[in-house]
This record gives sequence, structure tokens and C-alpha cells, in this order.
Amino acid sequence: HTPKVVVGVDGSDHSRAALEWAAAEAVRRGAVLRIVHALGMPLIVSAYGGPTRFQPTDEISGQATSVLTDARAHATEQEPDVETETVTALEEAPLALIRQSHPHDLIVIGTRGLGTVASLFVGSVSVRVAAQAPCPVVVVP
Ligand code: ATP
Ligand code: MG
Ligand code: MG
Repeated sequence: HTPKVVVGVDGSDHSRAALEWAAAEAVRRGAVLRIVHALGMPLIVSAYGGPTRFQPTDEISGQATSVLTDARAHATEQEPDVETETVTALEEAPLALIRQSHPHDLIVIGTRGLGTVASLFVGSVSVRVAAQAPCPVVVVP
């Protein structure tokens, strides 16, 4: 099937930088840009009894739609020829990005995201995706 560039967006400036790089790379590759926004809880939460999947409220679904609509509009503004598709995933972000990808795809993510801990470290989503993805991963600063 058609190769994809899969990009994770969380609404942060970091993920916007990743989106811009991913849109340009999708055009270079002649690949579809698949924009993924994940809503699921981290596994660490589910380990204490919470759900890993849930039924999002209308408010959360609406926020997800707006994150993805903004991302798609921004990608198209940067790269008018890019072909996009959007996915709202109910899994946690690392699993969602990994399951949306195949060995010949490329995953693009930011070094960090919406997390409030200003750290020198790379975000937990970035680390887990880089460790577990079935395909190459680009981490955009
Ligand atoms: P942490 O979440 O570990 O506190 P952080 O929020 O700073 O730290 P990450 O969440 O790892 O960092 O974000 C790194 C990148 O992962 C983001 O730039 C984005 O590309 C992707 N990402 C993060 N959260 C999501 C999400 N919910 N859906 C899709 N992609 C995401
Ligand atoms: Mg985060
Ligand atoms: Mg996180």
C-alpha cells in the first residue's frame, strides 16, 4: 500500500515543528501525510486501574477535531500539494503512532510536547516511539 509519513500532534509548538517537517517530507516522498492525535491515557495510569480506552466526551472529541483541523490546515498552507488524512486515536499516543505505522513508513514527532515539566529530557512519547516503532523515526527539535 501507499507509504505514509505519520505525524503525531498534541497542539504544542513542538508538534507544529514536527508537522511542518513531516509535510515537506511527505511531498518529497510522494507519501500521504497521516496526522494522528491520540486521546488515550498512558499505561502507567491504567496500571492503577484506569481504562486504556474510553468513550471521549463531546468536549474532548471537539478538541481533538479542532487540533486535527488546525494541523491539516497548517500542513496544507505550508505544502499546498500535500495529501493528508487525519486520525483520532483512542489509545495512548505511543501505541497509536506505532499501530498507525508500517515498516516502510516514517514517524515524525517533536522532541517534546504539551508536558509542563521543563526538562532537558526528550518527552516520554518521543522516547517510547523511538524505542518501539516498526519504522524509522524522526524527532524534530
Ligand atoms: P510528557 O508527555 O512525557 O510529559 P511532553 O508532553 O513534553 O512530555 P511528549 O508527550 O513526549 O512530550 O511529546 C513529544 C511529541 O510526541 C510531540 O511533539 C508530538 O509529536 C507527539 N505527541 C505527544 N502527545 C501526543 C498525542 N496525544 N497524540 C499524538 N502525538 C503526540
Ligand atoms: Mg506529552
Ligand atoms: Mg505524555
